[in-house]
Amino acid sequence: LNRRLAEFGTTIFAEMSALAAATGAINLGQGFPDTDGPEEVREAAIRAIRDGRGNQYPPGPGVPELRTAISEHQRRFHGLTVDPDTGILVTAGATEAIAASLLALVEPGDEVVALEPYYDSYAACVAMAGGHRVPVTLRPRDGAYHLDLDELRDAITDRTRLLLLNTPHNPTGTVLTREELTAIAALAVERDLLVITDEVYEHLVFDGEHLPLAGFPGMRERTLTISSAGKTFSYTGWKVGWVTGPAELVTAVRSAKQFLTYVASGPFQYAVAEGLRLPDAYFTGLRDDLRLKRDLLSAGLADAGFAVYRPAGTYFVTTDIRPLGEEDGFQFCRKLPERCGVVAIPNAVFYDHREQGAPFVRFAFCKKEAVLREAVDRLRKLA
Ligand code: PMP
Ligand code: GLN
Repeated sequence: LNRRLAEFGTTIFAEMSALAAATGAINLGQGFPDTDGPEEVREAAIRAIRDGRGNQYPPGPGVPELRTAISEHQRRFHGLTVDPDTGILVTAGATEAIAASLLALVEPGDEVVALEPYYDSYAACVAMAGGHRVPVTLRPRDGAYHLDLDELRDAITDRTRLLLLNTPHNPTGTVLTREELTAIAALAVERDLLVITDEVYEHLVFDGEHLPLAGFPGMRERTLTISSAGKTFSYTGWKVGWVTGPAELVTAVRSAKQFLTYVASGPFQYAVAEGLRLPDAYFTGLRDDLRLKRDLLSAGLADAGFAVYRPAGTYFVTTDIRPLGEEDGFQFCRKLPERCGVVAIPNAVFYDHREQGAPFVRFAFCKKEAVLREAVDRLRKLA
């Protein structure tokens, strides 16, 4: 393994899902729903396969039906105009969109500023691109995580190539506010930075609202926005994602993407196109269902003795284990299946400053209500 990748090892999601499988524990680690998404979307995929749509290589940028549907979705929910021919690239999940965007835009030695804790593929992809990551740490305060805009400003140097944002934010559940996004946009314009913004949880906001960074002044021409059908339609295994932005940047990402997977998920692209056209009630229903699950798990964890950081969005709730007399999230998560039959993720893996993340543990609530209740019953035994 080369030096760029050696530090990363096996992803925590693979490690913890394997632990869940081996011990039969309830898996609140890796973020995937335990219920399939909309039946009509699944049927659309079956129909596409049966009708021979997408069974051979789809077009490089994605099938036109899906690109049109993404463009319509951006207009319907965010009032944004994206050109379906030049401004959209369909990818193998958001994961490939992140990798291809970084490989396309980062020169060796460039600095990439990202919000810490960050989703684990960011660090690995910045490294594969030969860049240096510069973490700006979100701080826990008053029951939630906050961005310090002065810290962000101070992190930007003459070598900063781009900002890599994520809102709603995994793992903290933080949703950046209009004021924060306005300030970030002003900074990006002032320092002439490119921005990659990972908005895969765009429909999963329970308090406040999701505002795409690309809609702020001066951002359109410098922003690549990433999203994914995995989260919006609860089909994480289909791996349909996309990146949208100005033609010049999307063309650059396409240059990298064509040599990664070339194309992926042919029939599923047609199905996701149908999904994106579902009525508003589908999207609000998904959110409302997850909000109840957030509330259920958050209350249960608090009851079990954890300090809970209330997530405004995503699939995840971050907790502090110190009130339970614990300090090390890694050790805690490795023993948790054996102690009480539950799997969770240590937030330290999302930090360069590991010590900052040490006592924090993430639980996923994108699971059936009965599963969450059973998990809470088990976790109560820890106290
Ligand atoms: N970004 C974030 C913030 C995520 O949480 C995830 C997966 N949960 C991804 C990207 C990857 O998405 P996909 O499964 O579409 O590759
Ligand atoms: N993004 C999901 C999470 O944060 C997992 C995706 C993966 O396994 N790579 O849990």
